[in-house]
Amino acid sequence: MIAYIRSVFCAVGCPTAMGTSAMPLARFFTTRLHTALEPWQSAARKGRLRDFDLAPGAVLPVALVRPGPAGGCADPLCGLLAADARGFHRRNAPRAGLRRWGVPTAMLLDLDRFPSGEAYAEAVSRRSRGNIARAAKKAARLGVTWAPIRPESYAASIAAITGSKRVRSGGPVLAAWIGTGTRTADTREAPAAAGCPAHWTLAWGAFIEEAEGPRLIAYLALRRVGDMCRTHELMGHGDYLRTGAMKFLFLEVARWLMDRRAAETQGLRWFMYGAMEHGAPGLHEWKRLMCFEPANLAFEPAAARASGAA
Ligand SMILES: [Zn+2]
Repeated sequence: MIAYIRSVFCAVGCPTAMGTSAMPLARFFTTRLHTALEPWQSAARKGRLRDFDLAPGAVLPVALVRPGPAGGCADPLCGLLAADARGFHRRNAPRAGLRRWGVPTAMLLDLDRFPSGEAYAEAVSRRSRGNIARAAKKAARLGVTWAPIRPESYAASIAAITGSKRVRSGGPVLAAWIGTGTRTADTREAPAAAGCPAHWTLAWGAFIEEAEGPRLIAYLALRRVGDMCRTHELMGHGDYLRTGAMKFLFLEVARWLMDRRAAETQGLRWFMYGAMEHGAPGLHEWKRLMCFEPANLAFEPAAARASGAA
């Protein structure tokens, strides 16, 4: 069966080398699969609201997101990112009555609740009874470090991470079933600075020291659009999940966000981590322990910004 799927993928998408074109195709089909399942999952998993002491039909708090671009944005990419975020929201906007059961619920962190990274780390520690903090400390003890990365410069390591586990808490990973192919070694170039501090996609990696040098074992990418950022990609190598590297990396990046020292972190209000209905119970619990809570999103319309309304 696996060989058959592999041959179909090759016939459709890779006349030359498996490793170069199967990954985007596998990602495409994974996304289509999730989109097809989403209305059913959204209806079946509204009961997860009970984990936040809410009834499945409860009225949720509404977060007003201002995606921009603001007056200072000269980069055309800012407008594209904002339009993409607005389009995504229109497709997933909470609807009234029965129709709301078919759409997912955003998991959101209001950054105004946390004056510093330390305040957030303490809140996570309280909610997880110290478990997340202990896992992160274990990773640090094992020598795990973190740094900003340019994902394209770690293609080999990221392919190895993607291929290391066939089923994850978010669902099956098609690329792991069909194989990610051989790639040239990581080039490890440093990432460039964000073009605009309010519209960016940035990534960070967790590394462990091995005989050949530091090895990328987990990565996290966030995308910021105006006053909201959200998890864009997040994955750890299956062989290193017990090191606590994922928890360590997530906490360190969240700390960076909430310490608000970098220009890229100024003016952020919301941090979104997917939807409540996505993924296995373990992923849902992980988001709850990281203090994300269900909310509805309302996007400031582009017209309001253009006319100067707040
Ligand atoms: Zn911008």
